[in-house]
Amino acid sequence: MNKQGRPTSIANTAHGGTHNTFTGNKALELEEALLFEIDNPGACGVDLDEPEDYTSRLGNLARQGRIGLPSVSEPEVVRHFVRLSSKNYSIDAGLYPLGSCTMKHNPRLNEKMARLPGFGDVHPLQPQKTVQGALELMYELGHWLKELTGMPGVTLSPKAGAHGELCGMMAIRAALIARGEDESRSRVLVPESAHGTNPATAALLGYKVDAIPANAEGRVDLEAFKAKLGPDVAAIMLTNPNTCGLFERDIVEIAKAVHEVGAYFYCDGANFNAIVGRVRPGDLGIDAMHINLHKTFSTPHGGGGPGSGPVVFSEALAPFAPLPYVVKEKDGSFRLVESEADAEADGTSPFGRMTAFHGQMGMFTRALSYMLSHGSDGLRQVAEDAVLNANYVLASLKDDLTPSFEGPCMHEALFDDRFLKGTGVETLDFAKAMIDEGYHPMTMYFPLVVHGALLIEPTETESKQSVDLFIATLKDLARAAKSNDKARFTGAPYMSPRRRLDETAAARKPVLRWAPPSPAQAAE
Ligand SMILES: *Cc1c(COP(=O)(O)O)cnc(C)c1O
Repeated sequence: MNKQGRPTSIANTAHGGTHNTFTGNKALELEEALLFEIDNPGACGVDLDEPEDYTSRLGNLARQGRIGLPSVSEPEVVRHFVRLSSKNYSIDAGLYPLGSCTMKHNPRLNEKMARLPGFGDVHPLQPQKTVQGALELMYELGHWLKELTGMPGVTLSPKAGAHGELCGMMAIRAALIARGEDESRSRVLVPESAHGTNPATAALLGYKVDAIPANAEGRVDLEAFKAKLGPDVAAIMLTNPNTCGLFERDIVEIAKAVHEVGAYFYCDGANFNAIVGRVRPGDLGIDAMHINLHKTFSTPHGGGGPGSGPVVFSEALAPFAPLPYVVKEKDGSFRLVESEADAEADGTSPFGRMTAFHGQMGMFTRALSYMLSHGSDGLRQVAEDAVLNANYVLASLKDDLTPSFEGPCMHEALFDDRFLKGTGVETLDFAKAMIDEGYHPMTMYFPLVVHGALLIEPTETESKQSVDLFIATLKDLARAAKSNDKARFTGAPYMSPRRRLDETAAARKPVLRWAPPSPAQAAE
């Protein structure tokens, strides 16, 4: 326990084998209290002059007590955040095998570009003639996204993958409204192997979500899918490569069948990094697809942001893409189409807008920097190396863990918990033991189509040495689980700053506000 009563270090366990320290620190790994708990009344990071004589106009409404914010000096603030940052696992610290999330290296060049004042310091309300360079960058990014996907329309403004899905589905709805078929088409087909945000998006728009089962190969069951088609279907939302890390082989046939019943094909392209430079989604018959710039085209992400989810559109949907968008004028200048009147003059019918302004400028800059520095051969190699690394993991671990499906994978390797059967160790315990080994766990219990899933995405940025050590670690853990070393797992993590939390209680009874300790507690 630390001074605030939170469980911290390991006391006398068989694993870890250290003792509690007086401070709660573990050598150079330092304990850190909340900022409110290190409140030091009177301390301040700046030296402000006393205000000149003034007469308060607040009468008896003037605040009597403290404002309730922590008082800390500059060194205290600096130490606080530096200590916290060192507890945060990041892609800059080590391999981050989170499946579906694509946690890969963000080149430092990206950061340099994003900080150029012409991109980093612009304001969304600046007159357009003063931000021509930024508009040109957006135009060029849109151009390359269209080029790489083989799709004629693009919108840049959505601020995450899920936001892009919403945007794409709103464009589909706008197209159905224009055809007078919005009322009659109320069903959206979503394969079981789709990302969870897909059914959530369809449901948010009021569609009935109809799940398509997966076949024994982890792909869409084609017959079951065809049986669900009908005149009331608005769209299919399909993730490709799907969340089992597999390419949907029947995708062209699926697109054809969807179009035959007058519905649209939405593809979740968050995992475009597996196919970029190799396959153009437009050639597969897709009508709308979001791309997670923060996955495929680098940008550090995690902890909820930043994200950017541009959407590309087919000929049929492009006119309904939302405001704003950038056009290039005959004289070579760039202009934002921001209003419906502008759009009408331009011959489009946007369904509305997704964001107050234009999207995530910093991420546009990082993504274009990533694309241009890789070039077309480099981007193709991104996909090839991502797939190669994942297959290396899959092949190396196939006798130690249980691969869920036969054959090679795309950018991520899926295992389930059959290898843990009878050991008393579960997927969660296995993942927690990885933390003691210095790894962020892989994605667990997702996708739902297999039991106790472990979904591993090494990405293309890991070296062979790094992947080899990771593989050796998982082999060692699997061996320990099978040879009855249960204690290594069920109490894990032993060595992290915080021990295993009661996740159920944290979800059901979250304590979201800090309260000062009562005087009785404080006196203890
Ligand atoms: C990450 C991901 C999403 C959601 O993207 P966010 O940016 O987190 O909203 C959707 N689908 C798939 C397949 C993903 O991997």
